[in-house]
Amino acid sequence: MTLPLIVIRPEGLYCPQGEFFIDPWRPVDRAVITHAHSDHARPGNAHYLAHRDNAELLHIRLGADISLQTLEYGEALEHRGVRISLHPAGHVLGSAQVRLECKGRVWVASGDYKLADDGTCRPFEPVRCDTFITESTFGLPVYRWPHQADLFADINNWWQRNAASGRASILFCYAFGKAQRILRGVDSTIGPIVCHGAVEPLNAVYRAIGVPLPATFRVTDEAMNKSALSQALVLAPPSAAGTPWLRRFGDYSDAFASGWMQLRGARRRRGVDRGFVMSDHADWPALHRAIGCTQAGQVFVTHGSIAIMVRYLREQGLDAQAFATEYGGEEEADSADGEAIPMPGMRDSNHTGDAAFSVGSDRDGAGESDNPGASGFSPTLSAARRPRPLES
Ligand SMILES: [Zn+2]
Ligand SMILES: [Zn+2]
Repeated sequence: MTLPLIVIRPEGLYCPQGEFFIDPWRPVDRAVITHAHSDHARPGNAHYLAHRDNAELLHIRLGADISLQTLEYGEALEHRGVRISLHPAGHVLGSAQVRLECKGRVWVASGDYKLADDGTCRPFEPVRCDTFITESTFGLPVYRWPHQADLFADINNWWQRNAASGRASILFCYAFGKAQRILRGVDSTIGPIVCHGAVEPLNAVYRAIGVPLPATFRVTDEAMNKSALSQALVLAPPSAAGTPWLRRFGDYSDAFASGWMQLRGARRRRGVDRGFVMSDHADWPALHRAIGCTQAGQVFVTHGSIAIMVRYLREQGLDAQAFATEYGGEEEADSADGEAIPMPGMRDSNHTGDAAFSVGSDRDGAGESDNPGASGFSPTLSAARRPRPLES
């Protein structure tokens, strides 16, 4: 009986061989972070390892002084005999699946993921593994997302109709990920696009990394007079609903973009004019397509519809089990405040932090760290196995 590569500890998902955690919910020495949503990237860890596109986001959220080391997709770090690499998860900018390899066995922790390529981050790549830890935020057969083209045609039509009748189109969406995906997908020739103060700093992070987004305005910009606002698409976090900020738009139509909009009840509870079914998580068919592509015989299911996913996977002949985690809180929770990342303001984007997981050593990771500042990482950098492309 071989030891598992990942187990559950009170602090989070733990790799006993490597003595590090993945997205821990309590402070630990070494944390590998799948993405910068607040339920996955929490403060207080001594060292962080994440994809390099998270650097700015993590420094804004967790502090410029955190000890952060970054990897490119497919780059591998070897630590205590465990080979660690990050692979695209297609969820939000910088999101990654974590691949661990030890003594010929491979485990992959998915973090959050979706399969649709939205043009704002590297699309999901399946990674072959023996054991796959999958999220299941929308792990029920009722969740089936519309095609991106249909979704954006709907949003464009709604915006166009509102503009024709002289009303602003307020679209509530999560500030990190969802808003940038909407910017990338809508027809920006319909009218001006206004972003709430919680959204605009995140747009700047995406633009700085090279994701092309259309021009956006702040509501206080001089060009945003009454007539401009009457033609505008306005992206705001759910927490802006019902606040005085909305008064300046006068008569407007509002809508909410979320996977939960698939359910009529959820749409009613929001009290908005329209619901657009849009999620940065995989829907039911995509979850099972992704799991199948990994060819894993063993699957652990985290946050979401765990019991139903586990039962279904067992019916498919897989060894499926539940992992109780403390993820959820961005789109997972149908809360009034879904703002994933509070943005106090931008910092100097040149800061990259100190490399706590120092790379370039030629040791193969079996011993102690020779870096006194790092708690025991003794990494070797090398190229990871290329994942196979996903069959469409
Ligand atoms: Zn997330
Ligand atoms: Zn999550």
